[in-house]
Amino acid sequence: MEFRQLGRTELKLSVLGFGASPLGDEFGRIDPSEGERAVHAALDAGINFFDTSPYYGRTLSETRLGNALRGKRHRAVVATKCGRYGKADFDFSADRVKRSVDESLTRLGTDYLDLLTAHDIEFVDREQIINDAIPAMRELQAAGKVRYTAFSGLPIRLLRDVAERADVDAVLSYCHYNLMIRDLETELAPVLQRKGLGLINAAPVHMGILTEAGPPAWHPAPEAAKRAGAEIVSLCRQAGRDPAQVAIRFCVEYPMAATTLVGMVTSDQVQQNVSALNSEIDPDLLAKIEQIVEPVRNLTWASGRPENSDV
Ligand code: NAD
Repeated sequence: MEFRQLGRTELKLSVLGFGASPLGDEFGRIDPSEGERAVHAALDAGINFFDTSPYYGRTLSETRLGNALRGKRHRAVVATKCGRYGKADFDFSADRVKRSVDESLTRLGTDYLDLLTAHDIEFVDREQIINDAIPAMRELQAAGKVRYTAFSGLPIRLLRDVAERADVDAVLSYCHYNLMIRDLETELAPVLQRKGLGLINAAPVHMGILTEAGPPAWHPAPEAAKRAGAEIVSLCRQAGRDPAQVAIRFCVEYPMAATTLVGMVTSDQVQQNVSALNSEIDPDLLAKIEQIVEPVRNLTWASGRPENSDV
């Protein structure tokens, strides 16, 4: 396993990170013991980065991850989030952020978090993130409960503005750098580079679009993007390649990202995704994928308050 430093932090993250949102049944009900085996298989394969949130399964993901990491906490870099607690339940006030961390520490069975991320900031006033949430996160850092801080969200221009103005260590972006979309390179990467902030790139399979199973029913991408994704899946199948592996391999090659976070729930998926790291993408296959993507390149969707959304 290769490890990369997250910005200027002391965290060295495995290039493939374990996204724990499906552990909270966000992509359908899972077998909890299989989920636990997936966490152990990830650790054994050298994956050290685990990302969860109180929002995933409304605390279920944190509880399951905490159970799976019991006695193994020292082998993991544990990241959780604050501020989002339901589909429309957000609270980024300083008091709630502090309480949230205490609750997460209990569920995760640990006395410190390696990374705390303000979760889905586009749903609130960005000034509250900069003036209330992040200073509270910094206080938690000074108190030793949190090692480093970040924020996450979908709209890439909002991420850029907050990265420019806020005092954080890293940014978590999703669905803005993968086979289907690449505007992170021009919209966000320059400010991260200039400020020395770390990048966590999430959702390489575009939240299921680039998998044999296809996207979940709630997937917000425009139909044209879903159709192009289905074409890519079928092209990979014809070429004898697993589309998820191709998609993951593509993202891991992006050197700006310290880690690529993939949602994983079975030990088989962990093995497949780890073996993707050593696979090659045939240039002909990549060229055909680029042709399919061209008409829908960089298609995104609305998320959050109108003034924060890209669309
Ligand atoms: P993803 O693109 O990683 O897709 C996850 C889906 O892909 C799941 O259904 C999973 O079962 C499936 N999958 C994974 N490997 C596979 C394989 N080899 N073959 C077939 N299917 C496979 O989307 P995601 O889980 O939403 O994103 C990854 C992680 O990034 C999340 O779990 C979360 O930790 C983080 N994330 C954070 C935010 C945020 O902070 N706002 C947003 C999105 C993702």
